[in-house]
Amino acid sequence: MQVIKAKSILQKVGGHSNQWFGIDYNINLYKGCSHGCIYCDSRSSCYQIDHFDEVRIKDNEIAILNKELQSKKKKGVVGIGAMSDTYNPFEKNLEITRQALKLLQFYHFGVSIDTKSDLVVRDIDILKQMKNVIIKFT
Ligand code: SF4
Repeated sequence: MQVIKAKSILQKVGGHSNQWFGIDYNINLYKGCSHGCIYCDSRSSCYQIDHFDEVRIKDNEIAILNKELQSKKKKGVVGIGAMSDTYNPFEKNLEITRQALKLLQFYHFGVSIDTKSDLVVRDIDILKQMKNVIIKFT
């Protein structure tokens, strides 16, 4: 699997997106998605993601996310999965999403996850300890 460079993981969400999706921050732990949905908006050329069906990971992303969460004074709900299903088949062994959830729980952030995989059930032990949790299945 290809590892790509990332300067930051946590993005602030404002304006209409904040009201519409009910999230304050957004993270995409993987780039690309292998589910192949024909209705997928993320594969649109406006996002300029080459080879969208190939899943890539971001170098050192958990350490970067840890630093970013630590520095945020404003807590809130973090959206995961807007541009890539975070519970893709690789997540089962890599556990990147699981590590990110542990950080969100530790720093008292909520989470909103979009997924079409029942692998999310694996992380129910962490999700049960979080205050605000939204899971959306497609
Ligand atoms: S699961 Fe989501 S991100 Fe992945 S292909 Fe389907 S719509 Fe796109």
